[in-house]
Amino acid sequence: MALIVHKYGGTSMGSTDRIKNVAKRVAKWHDAGYQIVVVPSAMSGETNRILGLAKEIMADPDPRELDMIASTGEQVSVGLLAIALQALGKKAVSYAGWQVPIKTDSSYTKARIASIDDAKVNADLAEGKIVIITGFQGVDELGNITTLGRGGSDTSAVAIAAALKAQECLIYTDVDGVYTTDPRVVSDARKLNTVTFEEMLEMASLGSKVLQIRSVEFAGNYRMPTRVLSSLTDPLMPLAEEIVSGTLISFEEDTNMEQATITGIAFNRDEAKLTVFGVPDKPGIAYQILGPIADANIEVDMIIQNQSVEGKTDFTFTVPRGDYNKAMDVLNESVKAHIGAGNIIGDSKVSKVSVVGVGMRSHVGIASQMFRTLSDEGINIQMISTSEIKISVLIDEKYMELAVRALHKAFGLEAA
Ligand code: ADP
Ligand code: ASP
Ligand code: MG
Repeated sequence: MALIVHKYGGTSMGSTDRIKNVAKRVAKWHDAGYQIVVVPSAMSGETNRILGLAKEIMADPDPRELDMIASTGEQVSVGLLAIALQALGKKAVSYAGWQVPIKTDSSYTKARIASIDDAKVNADLAEGKIVIITGFQGVDELGNITTLGRGGSDTSAVAIAAALKAQECLIYTDVDGVYTTDPRVVSDARKLNTVTFEEMLEMASLGSKVLQIRSVEFAGNYRMPTRVLSSLTDPLMPLAEEIVSGTLISFEEDTNMEQATITGIAFNRDEAKLTVFGVPDKPGIAYQILGPIADANIEVDMIIQNQSVEGKTDFTFTVPRGDYNKAMDVLNESVKAHIGAGNIIGDSKVSKVSVVGVGMRSHVGIASQMFRTLSDEGINIQMISTSEIKISVLIDEKYMELAVRALHKAFGLEAA
């Protein structure tokens, strides 16, 4: 019997009425003969609320304890959904990550899944039960509860689908698919019927939070067919219609597919930039600056080193805004200790806007069109980075939405 994994996000689980709707939808799939594993998120706002309680006590709490707290939202969701399914007469059982177990490393607040035991789940499925597993959480070697990073239930779902060799992983959310850009920013963004795995990976890594990046990595590594679709439609809509709705992440670049040069615009508001001036231009400098940043577990994204003048250069890089203060402290220490450079300055009010598309491989002039569009809007570009299928620019955060709208229009991405 074919197995399908369903994932429901926070809005989809946002009230007991919504949870009852989820149960109706899941029961419909089960009645149609599928085995179903459901991976829900915490009810919307819940993870923020409980993490906020910890921050009321201290600014920088112990990450192990944060995971202990953050993981509880999902535990409420699985229990409520099991009850809602039982109320419909279904056999349903819920599990926390540690009960499966979903084993992870010990990087609290951003743990990586190491293995998923399928024995218990398969036994339940064989008995005709619907199995509900917490998203977002796992357990490390020593039995500590871990979480997978914000938005991590997507990753739980795709990883569980891969471990159980599911036929498909359906990510139900509050939009009806992946759009050319966030429909909350551009109202005439267009829904994509398919998006290539590579494009989805870039879009997720560049800030489109519709899927957590690691879920896309799992989908790619295991070639797990994954579809993003709405949980807000009629839960009893005909299955044949639902099965083909939303956006499918495809693994082939089919030339018949919506073959535009640019597929989408991604953005990340929360960037920060640090610059070290007067760095001696000699071997090992980049390592001396960025080594301690990496040791502090801070991810560096864009990097620029200027042309040297009289043996000195400037070095600029970006980090996630949440790590800005920590990065500044690390940089102050290491520059003082090893480099003897001049000033360090920072700007924590910058954003990154990116155009993404596999079509870029065979088209020239995308970069110049992007830069011209930003120039026409009077938006200054602070940094640029490119790959084969994306171009990203760093700009002042106050122009971010303007830039996204202008680029969306310039590349003709709007709905017809
Ligand atoms: P969930 O709680 O279901 O995981 P998220 O809030 O994490 O939902 O992700 C869905 C949201 O992602 C949408 O409401 C939308 O605002 C946002 N989003 C960002 N970029 C895109 C995009 N390109 N297409 C669709 N949604 C996007
Ligand atoms: N509840 C977690 C969060 O808010 C995980 C998720 O929703 O995917 O980040
Ligand atoms: Mg999400």
